[in-house]
Amino acid sequence: MHLVRENLFIGNIGDAAEVLQNGSTEITHILSVLSSASISFFSEWRSGLTIPTKEIKKVFVGGSGGAAASGDHSDDGSKSSLSPQKLLYLLEYAGKDLKLVRMAVPIRDMESENLLDYLDACFDFIDQSRKEGSVLVHCFAGVSRSAAIITAYLMRTEQLSQEGDCYNRGEKIDSSKLGADPGLPTESSSVIEASPNEGINRTAYRCKKCRRIVALQENVVDHIPGDGETSFEWHKRRGGNPFNKSAQTECSSVFVEPLRWMTAVEEGAIEGKLSCAHCEARLGYFNWSGIQCSCGSWISPAFQLHKSRVDISTV
Ligand SMILES: [Zn+2]
Ligand SMILES: [Zn+2]
Repeated sequence: MHLVRENLFIGNIGDAAEVLQNGSTEITHILSVLSSASISFFSEWRSGLTIPTKEIKKVFVGGSGGAAASGDHSDDGSKSSLSPQKLLYLLEYAGKDLKLVRMAVPIRDMESENLLDYLDACFDFIDQSRKEGSVLVHCFAGVSRSAAIITAYLMRTEQLSQEGDCYNRGEKIDSSKLGADPGLPTESSSVIEASPNEGINRTAYRCKKCRRIVALQENVVDHIPGDGETSFEWHKRRGGNPFNKSAQTECSSVFVEPLRWMTAVEEGAIEGKLSCAHCEARLGYFNWSGIQCSCGSWISPAFQLHKSRVDISTV
């Protein structure tokens, strides 16, 4: 379970089960984004795990119509399972002492479901929960579905929010706060002189098109491939192993710290393309709220270079 923002956590099904079973001093609300089969209390996940619940309400979404609260038509409860209506979400009290409020949203597969149907309801729930306590957002593995909802939530709330950010959106970022541009001779040589690793070839990432250096290995922010619970405590780790096999085979991108050649970043954009400072070839993408790597890890904030757009060489 990881803290994403104040009163907002992300986790997997195990984290949620732990909270529901044993209670939590912190978590007051749980948003479960699970397949409809496993939505009612993880029966498939671990046998013998029974958690008391008390339904607050069920909301269905009809074929072409909007959401309709079942509370308006309490008689329809039995019919709805037979009708083409789909469960939008289930709200209930849950946990040992029925103190937790849980919202369960059935999303089997993000690709094939219309996530937008669910987003507004999820956002409202997260907002309300954060006012009343803390919310844990989880899916089965704590990777794609919960991360997608949190990313969308942060993008919406933080773009609208005028304050409370560690950086000012839409305002230029002081370039001294960005990492030195390894592609500039002066900055690059000073970096190299400062390096204690003399005699060791230093790995550099170059624009595939024009060969300009766009990042050094020390600019790379490591993440564990496939680990959904990543990187919220984002920091740069120096001396990462450039020949990390799993990272190279499983991830289609490398993530780096924000560097001075990233003009869109310096100009204060929240997200955008990263283009080569020399030839303007598209190298990747950045998003302060985060980007999900091809391996499943979520990196936040993310400054992403596609491996297909850069060559790895030694300085
Ligand atoms: Zn990855
Ligand atoms: Zn280039």
